[in-house]
Amino acid sequence: MDAPLSIAVIGSGPSGCYVAQSLRRSFPQSEITIYDRLASPFGLVRYGVAPDHQSTKSIQAQFARLFERENVRFAGNIEVGVDVSLDELRSIHHIVVLAAGLAEDRALGVPGEDLPEVYRAGRITRLFNAHPLEPTKVPKFGSSVAIIGGGNVSIDILRLLIKRREDFVNSDIDDAVLDAYAQAPVSRVDLICRSTITNAPSDPVMLAELGRVSGVKLSCADSIEVAEDAPRTAVARAKAIEELLQVGLGTEPRVDVVLHFGWAPVSIIGDGHVQNVELRSVNDDRPNILLNTNSVVTAIGFDFDGGDWHGLGALKANLETGVLDFGLYRTGWIKRGSRGTIAENRSCAKAVAEEIVADAGSLQRQPKTGYASLPEEVRAKAVDYSAWRRVDSAETEAASADRSRRKIPSHEQMVAIAHNRPAVSPAVPLGH
Ligand SMILES: Cc1cc2nc3c(=O)[nH]c(=O)nc-3n(C[C@H](O)[C@H](O)[C@H](O)COP(=O)(O)OP(=O)(O)OC[C@H]3O[C@@H](n4cnc5c(N)ncnc54)[C@H](O)[C@@H]3O)c2cc1C
Repeated sequence: MDAPLSIAVIGSGPSGCYVAQSLRRSFPQSEITIYDRLASPFGLVRYGVAPDHQSTKSIQAQFARLFERENVRFAGNIEVGVDVSLDELRSIHHIVVLAAGLAEDRALGVPGEDLPEVYRAGRITRLFNAHPLEPTKVPKFGSSVAIIGGGNVSIDILRLLIKRREDFVNSDIDDAVLDAYAQAPVSRVDLICRSTITNAPSDPVMLAELGRVSGVKLSCADSIEVAEDAPRTAVARAKAIEELLQVGLGTEPRVDVVLHFGWAPVSIIGDGHVQNVELRSVNDDRPNILLNTNSVVTAIGFDFDGGDWHGLGALKANLETGVLDFGLYRTGWIKRGSRGTIAENRSCAKAVAEEIVADAGSLQRQPKTGYASLPEEVRAKAVDYSAWRRVDSAETEAASADRSRRKIPSHEQMVAIAHNRPAVSPAVPLGH
């Protein structure tokens, strides 16, 4: 009889959790371990999804059932490539599934991108989400910022920058970061999207939400007409924008927001500091324009970290197949590129699980002892699910009445709490 399957999933974000869910159903007797470099599970649900979108983050409760009821092991604080190599994992597990996401913001590729006030979206969303490995220095936005990118992440950043402290009730925003930002908030935001309104990637619901932030005057620099036979989402997007422009203020606006559709950056200009962004019209020959701004945030998607994932060579996005090698698969953003919502990772993970099921007969030949055969010192540093729950409790207990949790913004601190060790610094450092 074949030995029970031992399965490693690298990454505990949505795609890692979804693939573990599918594999548990197909292989009820298997040993499944989800490794993560962080001491907490759930990837971008915890550290990408905006802190004021708690209903989206509530999917964590569904994923938690894997560890609580479905006998899936969480092994946090283990970074593949640092604490254990991919080859080592492949030698002790029959199946290894990469679900490590995409960590690097895509580069804009225009002159001036290296100026100090050009920030990348991942940095901003990690910062407001208290990511434990993100430097906590709050960017110098100045009074005006140009956000480049027309997808939902750029709308998230816009919303975070125009809200006031009282707009974050029940969120788990990093209050130290928010307070530092509130000392010098922006008073103008230009959102630059290369697509037209018809083709823009933003969700109309996300746009409509902007209209509920008080004190904000929204305008659109371009025509918002869409053809009658345009896709339903395009019509809904145009309608959402039309409605945004109608939002009555009654008082002087705190912030002016200008939406630009059909424009792309040519260069970011400044003598040591950002001063202007030059834009070209994508679909016609209108002359280039210069937009005056103090800072830039680029939100144009995420990419492979250097193109070479732990010696696997360039992992180009591939929608066709999850298999990379004998017993080695990938799912989620590391397979498809940085496209799609949390839910889209579910169908991706199901398809990859089906590939694994089809291959399983040929894979489970030799007995493998899985997690237990990791070196003692690696297992000793792991944060298991019950250890993570200690961090989880510490965060929810530390939350003030108007917050859902107070995240611990230090990896060492999280690990110390998880392992019941004395604090290495105050439990939740103030003014970090
Ligand atoms: C800023 C932002 C906001 C978003 N907001 C929404 C939203 O509101 N709604 C929505 O539906 N979707 C949203 N998304 C999209 C959604 O987050 C993604 O679809 C989803 O998280 C991708 O899942 P994943 O598991 O492939 O990657 P991730 O969620 O990135 O998970 C990857 C995991 O792998 C771990 N890892 C990486 N390298 C290693 C390693 N070497 N060793 C061990 N572990 C490793 C990481 O720590 C991480 O936990 C957002 C995305 C971003 C970037």
